[in-house]
Amino acid sequence: MLLNDKEFGEVIVRKSPLARGVRFSIATSGRLQMSVPTYTSEFLAKRFLNSNRKMIREKLPVKDPGEQRARDYQKKVLMKKAKEYLPYRLEYYANLYGYSYEKCRLTHANTRWGSCSSNKTISLNIGLMKVPEALRDYVILHELAHLNHMDHSKDFWAEVGRHDKNYKVHEKKLKMFNPGV
Ligand SMILES: [Zn+2]
Repeated sequence: MLLNDKEFGEVIVRKSPLARGVRFSIATSGRLQMSVPTYTSEFLAKRFLNSNRKMIREKLPVKDPGEQRARDYQKKVLMKKAKEYLPYRLEYYANLYGYSYEKCRLTHANTRWGSCSSNKTISLNIGLMKVPEALRDYVILHELAHLNHMDHSKDFWAEVGRHDKNYKVHEKKLKMFNPGV
């Protein structure tokens, strides 16, 4: 449920059977978020919000609604670009170097550029659309190499190095960017 509040903008209401009371926090989008027990109605949620206004103002860094919307928009644009590019780029390199993976998943985690799971799902962060192509390709080759080595062993890096000779530079440069949107 989403409340539209005059002061805090869009407020995310998460219903949880485990919640015993109301808890306020900040979602990754910068929105105010409240966890409430499952039975909570919209009316009740608004009441909780009203009675905690002062505490929220003092304790929680809610982003202004304009900023929230700008972020949402940016995320949407990146997702669209990513969908049209990353799965195909991954497929291209997989074919080129003879890897087979199960699935490509697009994510927008704040902390990582990509991952490879033991069931051969490769996840790529849509934030990759913001970094130079060489770095983007490096992340793809890095995750593909994890299909053969689920660790960062010497053999793993040797494999990455076979497909990306500048992988050390790329790994370093990537640190100058932030995967979060
Ligand atoms: Zn890795």
